[in-house]
Amino acid sequence: NNPIKIGIVGYGNLGKGVELAIRQNKDMELVAIFTRRDPKEIDTTAKAVHIDKITDYRNIVDVMIICGGSSTDLPQQVPYIAQWFNTVDSFDTHAKIPEFFSTVNKVAKEHHTLSLISTGWDPGLFSMLRVLGESILPQGETYTFWGKGLSQGHSDAIRRIEGVKAGVQYTIPIETALERVRQGENPVLTTAEKHERVCYVVAQEGSDKSVIENSIKTMPNYFADYNTTVHFISEEELKANHSAMPHGGKVFRSGLTGEQTKQNIEFGLTLESNPEFTASVLVAFSRAVYKQAKQGHTGAVTVFDIPLGALSPKSAEELRANLL
Ligand code: NDP
Repeated sequence: NNPIKIGIVGYGNLGKGVELAIRQNKDMELVAIFTRRDPKEIDTTAKAVHIDKITDYRNIVDVMIICGGSSTDLPQQVPYIAQWFNTVDSFDTHAKIPEFFSTVNKVAKEHHTLSLISTGWDPGLFSMLRVLGESILPQGETYTFWGKGLSQGHSDAIRRIEGVKAGVQYTIPIETALERVRQGENPVLTTAEKHERVCYVVAQEGSDKSVIENSIKTMPNYFADYNTTVHFISEEELKANHSAMPHGGKVFRSGLTGEQTKQNIEFGLTLESNPEFTASVLVAFSRAVYKQAKQGHTGAVTVFDIPLGALSPKSAEELRANLL
């Protein structure tokens, strides 16, 4: 059996994670990494190629895993690359997913390629679990909690405050809220009632820490509505303890069957590295895209359209033998 030939587009956190994940999947092979930068600048032992040469690989690569950023890279790269390749991406700009789907679908249908959009863990695995829960327990409530995790957007917001040299922000689920959901209370909770925010900040020399703390805690949209804690630490401490990209979260479906019978579904992720985990999800789904494309599927699809068994390197027969 020939290995599935994968290309990586964009070599950031996610691209590096995909490179690592491919090594753990014996039925896959990394053909090349495609980048907009000078390929010589790419620190890898794999083959690095300028993205302008991507069409040279049209009969070589089976699936392109596109690892650009959601805000500007993916809306441009995915429809372009889908002209020649099956693709997988992690587009996560929630409000723009329908529009993104329709653009990619048009290109992929026209060129007889298959594109799986918006996979990863959220959107991705969490989206699947929400649908599963809502389908099985139609009478109930769905809850998503994020964290403990590093939030890029909130960390950027802290760093823009005057007097701040560096900083990170963790989103942390509130334990009492989790417990109320587990008990089947079906509480009405705002995002702020579900999560708290903890910041680690390196202040510039001579800056007033109380002013910084106040600017963070009163920042509208980002912190003002939340219980926010600010810790001031040294630059060395920030580097030593806050350089990783942990994340995770929980999806609950809490409902009733019959008259009063409480049923609760809980799915959780605890991730030491958000990009490495997300990359592992993209790689498993690229196997499914390869199989589905071989069966003649074209256009854009989401995780809801992919049969679970297609993610596995095992045959349907092997999977059936292990149903229980
Ligand atoms: P990065 O910012 O690390 O990388 C994005 C792109 O920037 C790369 O593809 C690369 O393109 C370019 N780049 C990276 N490093 C450098 C550098 N040193 N100098 C110049 N350019 C660079 O983003 P991430 O990989 O962390 O995340 C990608 C997207 O994944 C995010 O936008 C997020 O929306 C999504 N995501 C989705 C998740 C989900 O569950 N669905 C979970 C996590 C992330 P090039 O090589 O062409 O220069």
